[in-house]
Amino acid sequence: MDELIRATAQEGMIRILAADTKTLVEEARKIHDTAPTGSALLGRMLTGGLLMGSVLKNAKDRLTLQIKGDGPAQGCLVTSGRNLAVKGYLGNPSVDLPKKENGKLDVSGAVGKEGRLTVIMDMGLKEPYVSSVPIFTGEIAEDIAYYYTVSEQTPSAVILGVLVDVNHTIKASGGILLQMMPGHDPMLADLLTYRVEEMRPLTSLLAEGKSMEEILEDLLFGMDLKIQERKTPRYECDCSRGRVEAALISLGQRELQNLYEEGKEEELTCHFCGKHYRFSHEDIGIILSESAAKTTKL
Ligand SMILES: [Zn+2]
Repeated sequence: MDELIRATAQEGMIRILAADTKTLVEEARKIHDTAPTGSALLGRMLTGGLLMGSVLKNAKDRLTLQIKGDGPAQGCLVTSGRNLAVKGYLGNPSVDLPKKENGKLDVSGAVGKEGRLTVIMDMGLKEPYVSSVPIFTGEIAEDIAYYYTVSEQTPSAVILGVLVDVNHTIKASGGILLQMMPGHDPMLADLLTYRVEEMRPLTSLLAEGKSMEEILEDLLFGMDLKIQERKTPRYECDCSRGRVEAALISLGQRELQNLYEEGKEEELTCHFCGKHYRFSHEDIGIILSESAAKTTKL
């Protein structure tokens, strides 16, 4: 079962977030029908976004993680929050590249070298907080670590992995985010970096049946690991007809009027879950008159 663990080590000097995401990434693979390289990219993004979003303060806060490069994946976007509901999509779900020399799926090749990683935090304020960094390696984990180091001045190590089986289903998926808190001993950061580099691939350990807690215990051996919380993350889309209507209204009066005058039926598909929403000519008329009424009131 999927699990998200929040923990600390070395008397709070190391903050740890770790997640086993096999089930939710498999769910995403089925929804988007991703090819292996696409599954690895989407799975790493979903896991990374999940870890990053899990520390938001309020229930309604949302984190969006987007990577947009010049590679054939045509970008990937995920959103998550404190409730551990995560969702995402790829520009090109069928992206698939030959494996790299080390046998790993070529995620950076799919992403591309030129582009940006963007983090948007919507905390219910007038404007969301937006921060972006250039793509560092395109392997996602290093990009997120780079983001934390540059944008938030928090030295971080990120491990993300997705293992795709021969039948293209997800065999293992997970991630670990380690952050050094202010005032830490630099020697401690060096030791942790060394351990992360020496660690066997996370997905190999998970595929062998090790639990995330066992993996953390090995990684943080002798560092007084304290598990604070365990929760179950999930892939979940919260789209609704109301939200799709709101998106239609946001097109503006003129666009809506054009749509209405075309006299056609509109079908909109949710990027995140593939659900279809159909709007008849009459429906569009109603939305148009409602949005007109709203505009007049303002
Ligand atoms: Zn949806």
